[in-house]
Amino acid sequence: MKPDAVVISEVDGVRQAKITLQHGKTPLFVAGQEIVAPSDYQTWIAKVSQSPDVEQRVLGQSLEARNIPAMTIKAPGTQPREQIVLIGRQHPPEITGALALFPFVETLLSDEPVAIRFRKRFETIVVPILNPDGVVRGHWRHSTGHKDLNRDWGPFTQPETRLMGHLLEEIAAAPARDLRLFIDFHSTQKDVFYTIPDDYPTNPPLFIKNWLARLSAAMPDYAIHRDANHNLDQPNSKNHVYGKYRVPTVTFEIGDETDRPLIARIGREAALAMMDELLATEPDLTAK
Ligand SMILES: [Zn+2]
Repeated sequence: MKPDAVVISEVDGVRQAKITLQHGKTPLFVAGQEIVAPSDYQTWIAKVSQSPDVEQRVLGQSLEARNIPAMTIKAPGTQPREQIVLIGRQHPPEITGALALFPFVETLLSDEPVAIRFRKRFETIVVPILNPDGVVRGHWRHSTGHKDLNRDWGPFTQPETRLMGHLLEEIAAAPARDLRLFIDFHSTQKDVFYTIPDDYPTNPPLFIKNWLARLSAAMPDYAIHRDANHNLDQPNSKNHVYGKYRVPTVTFEIGDETDRPLIARIGREAALAMMDELLATEPDLTAK
């Protein structure tokens, strides 16, 4: 792009940029962040699925009939009772959340002793891209059903969120499966963990507090921001999953401008701290 293609001006005290682009017959993509498309997820899933501890499947279809992929992570030949659910890309442009989810999941699959122990006791279900239609079409927040998916947890008016609702109900209904933790990866202006307050009872108890304390100890040079009172009434994933299942839930937000190597480090350290903390909890083996 030529320097004179961008004109910065100020209107009513607000700075704005006007970008002039030449386009021909070939499509021209304009993106504010790296493009991470459904095909990139397929490539990544194929790579990590080389591990015998991963099973890949299709959770279901989006409104425009795109596949929504899912992965199950656990030691081969085991059927762990305790379940972790990780999701990403409800909001299409939130790339930095995806850049944290990848190393987070790769750390769960690593040869670290804690990861090997973790995969024997816990099963992790990963749905890395819940809104593939919005990603392909370059939507800001919505699905192709004209809905912000992270305001549809509870109403479940959209096929994508309904798939998640069913998945969680299936876990709750199974006699030998217990949901223990739910994490939803996003991006916003800064790195922040949106959580429920510590005085809301969860099983396991005080997980978020203890997890973030471990993360802080592992990254003493990194300031952890936590907001435990963010939008508590909104029908988003964090509030719905907590309200219905009383497990710890968190919206894991990475800043849009956070340095990429730092994002990779946060993803890895957050996964290690999560595994350490979950392994330190007592398994709740009481019958449902
Ligand atoms: Zn978001």
